[in-house]
Amino acid sequence: MSSTAGQVIKCRAAVAWEAGKPLVIEEVEVAPPQAHEVRLKILFTALCHTDVYFWEAKGQTPLFPRIFGHEAGGIVESVGEGVTELQPGDHVLPVFTGECGECRHCKSEESNMCDLLRINTDRGHMINDGKTRFSKNGQPIYHFVGTSTFSEYTVVHVGCVAKINPAAPLDKVCILSCGICTGLGATLNVAKPKIGSSVAIFGLGAVGLSAAEGARIAGAARIIGVDLNPSRFEEAKKFGVNEFVNPKDHDKPVQEVIAEMTDGGVDRSVECTGSIQAMISAFECVHDGWGVAVLVGVPNKDDAFKTHPMNFLNERTLKGTFYGNYKPRTDLPSVVEKYMNKELELEKFITHSVPFSEINKAFDYMLKGQSIRCIIRMEE
Ligand code: NAD
Ligand code: ZN
Ligand code: ZN
Repeated sequence: MSSTAGQVIKCRAAVAWEAGKPLVIEEVEVAPPQAHEVRLKILFTALCHTDVYFWEAKGQTPLFPRIFGHEAGGIVESVGEGVTELQPGDHVLPVFTGECGECRHCKSEESNMCDLLRINTDRGHMINDGKTRFSKNGQPIYHFVGTSTFSEYTVVHVGCVAKINPAAPLDKVCILSCGICTGLGATLNVAKPKIGSSVAIFGLGAVGLSAAEGARIAGAARIIGVDLNPSRFEEAKKFGVNEFVNPKDHDKPVQEVIAEMTDGGVDRSVECTGSIQAMISAFECVHDGWGVAVLVGVPNKDDAFKTHPMNFLNERTLKGTFYGNYKPRTDLPSVVEKYMNKELELEKFITHSVPFSEINKAFDYMLKGQSIRCIIRMEE
């Protein structure tokens, strides 16, 4: 047991007090883990666009003060009652969606949508007692997607924690805790392109580029990258993207441009933007008869998907996925091994790195479209 087990820990956390306002590094109190919870010391975390949407809270339900962050790597500091599968010192990746191991979803080979621990972006407390483990001067601070990794210590349900090879460098594999597994799995596990096929990827951030990487690994011949930010196109070549479309360069809808380029449509498409318009285009650009489109981007809470039903009758399929259909505890350790065996490169996704005290810079890089992933180092 560590010397801090069972005690409240005071540590630094980046608190979002208000929507869209810079995070403030504060000293907060982190309560000990309760039954089926673990307290983690976070060493590295990264910024994903999902954090930014809920921090901006323009198209999402606002909940403040809140500690964001869900892509991270750390070490178990202490465990709560009933936790047998983890112990202090284990190297782990927390994941925003969990795996209880008991429910119908966890027992199904097809689903990673655990009944107990599936992603819930509007919940700001722990499921155990409906309370937060974070506070400042007695004021509770809300959690985000059960992970809240923008803190030196955080408390997470044991079902949302994957134990990984302790030899894996946490400053690299932390990005598997959301973005990279999400994109890779969206292609490999859900879209499943065939060798020699064509795949369109909408949005060339970390999620889209890892979806492109998945298409390359699957043996797709044409990988068409679609983005509004032309600076993404040069970078995307490193991820197997071999054709580019900027919707702004065309007068007609991008789905028509892609249909013309591909003799009727692509075999598969993966949407990684969060834009409802891009989601509709991603669906309408797949070939009739066999095309499959996969939605990954997080929509605004009031968005509605509108397309003509004939697009379905003409035998197009629309799917969606969280975390690329990977079960976090069962599947993530083997994705880490792919990196260790050099089957998967992570370095090329990491374009920036900042100390924790400069976490707001990571937001600037993402909002300006400059970074793929920015690693935030908790130890300065
Ligand atoms: P990012 O900001 O790094 O990349 C998004 C890219 O999409 C940017 O390059 C942007 O220019 C481009 N884009 C935006 N609107 C577009 C449009 N209409 N057409 C074409 N390109 C457009 O973000 P990210 O971290 O890679 O995340 C991508 C999306 O995936 C976000 O919506 C995020 O919330 C979501 N996400 C979903 C899951 C999941 O499990 N389903 C997990 C992680 C992230
Ligand atoms: Zn994410
Ligand atoms: Zn479950």
